[in-house]
Formats: sequence, structure tokens, C-alpha cells
Amino acid sequence: MTEPTRILLEENEIPTHWYNVVADMANPPAPPLGPDGNPVGPEQMLAIFPGQILEQEMSAERWIPIPDEVREVYKIWRPSPLMRAVRLEKALGTPAKIFFKYEGVSPAGSHKPNSAVPQAYYNRQAGIKRLTTETGAGQWGSSISFAGQMYGLEVKIYMVKVSYHQKPYRRLMMQTWGAQVLASPSDQTQTGRAILEKDPENQGSLGIAISEAVEEAAGRPDTNYSLGSVLNHVLLHQTIIGLEAKKQFDKIGLYPDVILGPCGGGSSFAGIAFPFLADKAAGEKRASNLRCVAVEPSSCPTLTRGTYAYDFGDASGFTPLMKMYTLGHDFMPPGIHAGGLRYHGDSPLVSQLYHEGHIEAVAVPQLATFEAGVLFARNEGIIPAPESCHGIRAAIDEALRCKETGESKVILFNLTGHGHFDMTAYDRFLSGQLENFEYPSEAIAQSLAHLPKVG
Ligand SMILES: *Cc1c(COP(=O)(O)O)cnc(C)c1O
Repeated sequence: MTEPTRILLEENEIPTHWYNVVADMANPPAPPLGPDGNPVGPEQMLAIFPGQILEQEMSAERWIPIPDEVREVYKIWRPSPLMRAVRLEKALGTPAKIFFKYEGVSPAGSHKPNSAVPQAYYNRQAGIKRLTTETGAGQWGSSISFAGQMYGLEVKIYMVKVSYHQKPYRRLMMQTWGAQVLASPSDQTQTGRAILEKDPENQGSLGIAISEAVEEAAGRPDTNYSLGSVLNHVLLHQTIIGLEAKKQFDKIGLYPDVILGPCGGGSSFAGIAFPFLADKAAGEKRASNLRCVAVEPSSCPTLTRGTYAYDFGDASGFTPLMKMYTLGHDFMPPGIHAGGLRYHGDSPLVSQLYHEGHIEAVAVPQLATFEAGVLFARNEGIIPAPESCHGIRAAIDEALRCKETGESKVILFNLTGHGHFDMTAYDRFLSGQLENFEYPSEAIAQSLAHLPKVG
């Protein structure tokens, strides 16, 4: 009998709860700190987040119910398919079984609406009228624009300038969903104006755009801020990916040996990996040898070459300090095409689990990721986002190791999004213009010297 290549769930099998990894952590998460070095109280955060989101941010409950109104919107694209990459397996000649969870089926084309939808919902419930946010590659901006539309919220997006110019179609997607989009640094905030005064050609970074969006939200009572990754509640919402994947593996009587995914702020990686780590924490035998590997670009190697320390989440020090792996908040990563992976820090939860040895990390160079993406597209059809190509690269490397050892491991990777708006990057790769960026060790040492002093 042939094994299935597309493992589907029914609409009523969409999980009813998200999984909170904090309940299973040996040590409580290191709290965010204010400028005075003391833990930030919820009061200060209420200026930019609704109460229910903050509750989730601080929660240690294992299971958190998904509101029915959110599950209704999830039904537009969820459950997402679990696919077996049979043709890729053949092309590689590997005895491994390669599976991927395909998150590119959402309206915005990535996993990001999994958190944008509940965030918009909780803000609407709290009586908020407007949301501000930042976007790098345009994935988060388009997701929150779509989600804002679902619940009647106005959305204003600070888009990293380099992407604003490189990705007009993502900008138009956001505008089609009714959002206002500005190139960051902009002249609308003190942060933006200060940067432009010093450097009018500044191409922006995720850190700068976060500062601008937070500044505006903190200054207006009708406006809240929403973040597309890094924070605990975002990771929580993304666990829908792994929870569905577990049900899908149950249907075919398999269980992954290795889980891989791209890691920028860490939300999609946490989303696919944490529900499986729960089995490990519960002492389940099938999970005892499970490995979870976060994959990052070698030009922005936060986990593999950064420092575990308290740092700001943004470039100019607006956000609380978070304990995380960081390259320094003023680290300016090279302009690689995987915009969603160009962040100086990483989620505190992913950082802590990495620090405690529960997950692994590898860094891969840009050219190798596009080679993997093209090989994948030519065998499986789907053209992956440049971020997703990082996970594919590492999955292929794992499958090739299985070929050497003869092991028939079950490999699962997170196909976080499609690359339909990234064809310029593919153009550069296919025409031989794409480069690998050297690891900028000097730049990193310099920005690490500016880490805030706490503790
Ligand atoms: C944003 C993004 C990522 C990286 O963000 P995480 O929070 O680390 O998941 C990965 N893949 C795609 C397609 C993205 O849009």
C-alpha cells in the first residue's frame, strides 16, 4: 500500500486550545526588565497591549482556550496540510521520510496570521480602534492588515525602507486590506526623525520600525501595538501549527525524529516544535530522542554566535529589556533576502530553551538556502519563501546524512510561507548575482559592546 502524501484534518479538528510551554519549563522565564533594572509590571505594558494579551504573555497555564471567534477566522485556511515530500526524497536518494507542514495556505501566504488574528480579536474586545506595527519583508504587515479587516480595526504599518522599495506587492497587499503603510525610518515619529537627520539614506531595520510603531501606540489611547514574533503570546498562538501536526502524524502512525524550521524572532519555530517538546516533558517514550533544530542565516547568527543577555527588543531602547540571545540591539544585519530573519535578538522562550539545551541551532549561508529552495520547488512544486528555504536547507542536509548512515528518520520541517512575492530574490539567485555575506564579526563585537548593563 502506498503511504499518503497529503495528510488533512477536518475543520472541527482545529485545536480548541493553544499550548503554553512555560508550564513545562524547569525554570520560570526570566522576566522583562524596565530601564531601572526592575521587572516591568503589567501596568506599564497596558499602554500598548490589551489585558487579555498581557495575561497570556505572563501565563504559566499549560492550555489556553482559543476563542470561537478566532477559530471561525482560522477556518478560512486551517487546518493546514501536512505533506510528505516524496519526490524530494527520491531526488536526494535518502531513506529518510521528509514531511512538511505547509503554512503558505493562509491569505497572507505565511504562518503569521495564526497570531495576527487573535491579536486583532483581543484588541477589538478591549475597545481599541487602531493598531500600529512594524514589518520587515511585509509578511507580518500583510497578516495584521488582513486580521484588522476581519474585526474592523484601522491598521498603520511602519515598513522597513529596504523592503518597502524591494517589495511593492506586499505593500499593495496591505493597502488592499485597507492599511496605511509608511517607509521606516519615517518623519512621523521622533525616532524616525532623529535617525533621518543623522543618516538620510538609512535603509531601516526591524528594530527601528519597532521603535516607531511603539512610540506612536504609547502616545495614543485609542491605539495599541502588535508584534509579529518574539513575545510569549505570539509563540503561544503559533503552537496551533505543531498541535495540528501532532494530530496529523497520529493519523498515519508516525512521529518525527527531527523537527526543523527557520528562526527569526522564533515564533514559527516555537509553533511547530513546542507541542512536541511537551511530549518530551511528559516523559513520552516516542519523544525521548526527538531533536528540534532552529535554523538561522549565517549573516544574522543570533543563537549560534550571539550572547545570552538582557537587551532591548528595538534599536533605540523603547522596549523593556528581555533576556535573550542577541547580537546587540544596534546590530545592522546585511540586506539578505530573508527579511523575516534579519532580527538582532530572538524570543526569550526559544533563547532560554536553547540555553538549557532542549533545542539546537544551526546557521546556513544564503546561497545554500536558495539552492535548497529551488531543488524543493522543482520536486514538490511549491516555491518557498526565502526564510522557509533556511529550514529546507537544514532538512535536506539531515536527509543527506541519513543517506550516508542508512537511517530512515522521520524529518519534519516548517514550510512557513510561499515565495510568490520574493521572485526578485529568486531572479538574483538564478542569474548568479546572489552573494553569501561574510559573518560580520567586527560589527557584532561592536554592537555587543553597547549591551545595556543590568544585574
Ligand atoms: C516572519 C517569517 C519567518 C520568521 O519569523 P519567526 O517569528 O521566526 O517565525 C519565517 N518564515 C516566514 C515565511 C516569515 O514570514
